Amino acid sequence: MKDGRPENTHPLNCGAYQDRIPLFESFLRFAEALARCSPAAAHRTGCVLVSFNLERVLGAGFSGGAASARGIAGNARSRDSHLHAEEHALLIAGAVEKDKVMFVTEAPCRLCAVRAINSGVSHVYYRTASARGRKGLELLRRAGKAVIHYPRWRPRGAGPHPPGLVAGRLPASMTLPEAYQRFAEALALRSTDGSQKVGCVVVSADLERVLGVGYNGGAAGMNDRDFIPVDRSGYVHAEENALLKAGAIEKDKVMFLTHTPCVMCAKRAINSGVMRVHCRQPNQRGDAMGLELLRQAGKQVVWWQGEPRRLRR
Ligand SMILES: [Zn+2]
Ligand SMILES: [Zn+2]
Repeated sequence: MKDGRPENTHPLNCGAYQDRIPLFESFLRFAEALARCSPAAAHRTGCVLVSFNLERVLGAGFSGGAASARGIAGNARSRDSHLHAEEHALLIAGAVEKDKVMFVTEAPCRLCAVRAINSGVSHVYYRTASARGRKGLELLRRAGKAVIHYPRWRPRGAGPHPPGLVAGRLPASMTLPEAYQRFAEALALRSTDGSQKVGCVVVSADLERVLGVGYNGGAAGMNDRDFIPVDRSGYVHAEENALLKAGAIEKDKVMFLTHTPCVMCAKRAINSGVMRVHCRQPNQRGDAMGLELLRQAGKQVVWWQGEPRRLRR
């Protein structure tokens, strides 16, 4: 039972209570943001597929068809003419990797349950279940899959969110870049750095595949504070953690960040083949050198909301 939640039954997510957002909640919040990208009139759902070790997002989708074709599907509003979110995410993830973990805003329909079984999904975490979703859940249970209702997580008393990060409420309609930005925010809340919580999501050039995610913190799964020199913060930056996962094989990557990168992370992004960086707000030190370096290297910098903010030099 990790983070004090009985729903955290995944074997890699067991441990003592922590007063930070559970990783599963971050994935479900991403699924909720994806649902708001759906062009469908009804059943606006989102789905996120994650590797069994919870390190890689294998596929993400929303009801209404392919992410890159949003707005093109002419009959997306007619009943059942759209791909279901699970179908879309499963298509992206493929079936090579088994024991995938599925996060859905709504329990899957019977047919999507079949798809999940055939694609090698082992765990399904869902927020709500309609009548048709209950049929899907029943089928998954009969196939021996773990099916877990996961209500929204709320912090116990430390306040809703650290300053500067987006509150929980989502707009009715969102773009895919906005959904990735929200995902970065939901990851930032997991950071163990008390001074600044940063989240990072690295995706493919066509915005279809998540290549790596990260937040600033120590060595995965351990308390490494004893190993840190007194004059150092000792945290691996969110960008570095995400790029470690994404690798440099795939070029023209797009990076979504809660804060502007430091100059070292800008160098990491350039060397790893990032072509565009989306930022939410200036970093705590008001350090704009990272952005300057990215621009000098010919990389695009996009601010999440409207006009560029003035940065302190
Ligand atoms: Zn379905
Ligand atoms: Zn950095």
